[in-house]
Amino acid sequence: MIPVRGLKGAKIAVLGLGRSGLSAARALDAGGATPICWDDNDAARAKAEAEGFACADLKRAGAFDDIARLIVSPGIPHLYPTPNPVVAAALAAGVPVDNDIGLFFQSFATPEWSSFDSPPRVIAVTGSNGKSTTSALIHHIMDAADRPAQLAGNIGRGVLDIDPPHNGEVVVLELSSYQTDLARSLTPDVAVFTNLSPDHLDRHAGMGGYFAAKRRLFAEGGPDRAVIGVDEDEGRFLAGQLVEGPTDDRVIRVSVAQKLTGPGWQVFARKGFLSEYRKGRQVASIDLRGIDGLPGAHNHQNACAAYAAARALGIAPKVIEAAFKTFAGLPHRSQLIADANGVRFVNDSKATNVDSAAKALAAFDNIRWICGGLQKEGGLDDVNAASGAVKKAYVIGREAATFAMQLDVPTQVCGTMEVAVAAAMAEAEPGDVVLLAPAAASFDQYDSFERRGEDFIAQVQARL
Ligand code: ADP
Repeated sequence: MIPVRGLKGAKIAVLGLGRSGLSAARALDAGGATPICWDDNDAARAKAEAEGFACADLKRAGAFDDIARLIVSPGIPHLYPTPNPVVAAALAAGVPVDNDIGLFFQSFATPEWSSFDSPPRVIAVTGSNGKSTTSALIHHIMDAADRPAQLAGNIGRGVLDIDPPHNGEVVVLELSSYQTDLARSLTPDVAVFTNLSPDHLDRHAGMGGYFAAKRRLFAEGGPDRAVIGVDEDEGRFLAGQLVEGPTDDRVIRVSVAQKLTGPGWQVFARKGFLSEYRKGRQVASIDLRGIDGLPGAHNHQNACAAYAAARALGIAPKVIEAAFKTFAGLPHRSQLIADANGVRFVNDSKATNVDSAAKALAAFDNIRWICGGLQKEGGLDDVNAASGAVKKAYVIGREAATFAMQLDVPTQVCGTMEVAVAAAMAEAEPGDVVLLAPAAASFDQYDSFERRGEDFIAQVQARL
């Protein structure tokens, strides 16, 4: 655990008592602050009380009278579409609002570091898609390079749950836009921006707010090195804002759409080959085509971003290449779950938005596509544009018929995963890929994308 520094003796309100809220309460307590906890859910409060934390209704009048800060969980709206009533009360009382990420950065460095010859470093990864894969891949490369490393944030452990870092240790953090938007301190040593496409627009009042939240990771005085995907206008803009001039290699540009060769530092993948160029000269090249854990151009983008972050820490290209080959991939992201009678079954339940589903569709041929769920803002145009390899869509979700009507491919309204898997398997021919890539959130039928992916796997396995 990272005890929170600088708030000794202060009363700190904690709103939301899930994983990050409880871990914030523990870290505050360990640092000598007094957490005052609240969650509208009775069971969550009971759990906190059982650990000895005081709970008090933060909506009551005067609740913020002697509170120094409010810590908010990522699932709770702090500004848009409207602030949660407790957040609104804190704002009205002039109490600063923060999150576990802000507490982490404020508390990470300690006096013991003065005896370290190599201070611990933080690599933080954000972007619309590929954050988890890129973060896990960076962590995997660190392992392969025998560099001590911990993985936390939106993936794995809560940031405040990690062990205090040792001499030379690397902490890899996956950070969502909700997390970067709210954190008061945000000071990674290496910051990574994978890509940007519309998502969570309600929580950021549109695309501008969404980009602004992610950009905070690169704020003035920010990272020593920035790894930036430049395949969208926003990435190009951000890279341009951070560099002093064309030869400035504090920014490593990443692309899977174009060859990047300039006087700066670049990593790109084309036709399955990753290349690193620095000062106009090629430094290394890696053949990504046979790497099972990283299929498709979208994963090549993740590979480039992870490669660049590892190079920023001085790890050799050969070590990174060896690590790529042993990366197993993450569950629910382009996960091959079975290969039976010439038909492959791929679970990409994490494709909760249109861009990630489009990338999954672009990575395979002869697709029997299971899709649908709770549709997000922005329509399905981009996924339609990528559906050339789809033989047929099997649509699930409470609004399956409405979803199906918007697709440009032959469809069957299935409603449930059970019906969809049965129908897709009955029609699949050798060479086909039965792909779950929903292009929608799961919450109309499941608690999470993980449950949805597990249901897909169970339905497939029951029929093999
Ligand atoms: P995040 O943590 O940003 O949600 P994940 O690595 O969990 O990213 O991947 C989320 C979804 O996006 C999965 O469906 C995955 O296959 C797809 N994906 C992964 N990397 C990329 C990428 N670079 N661009 C677009 N989609 C991606």
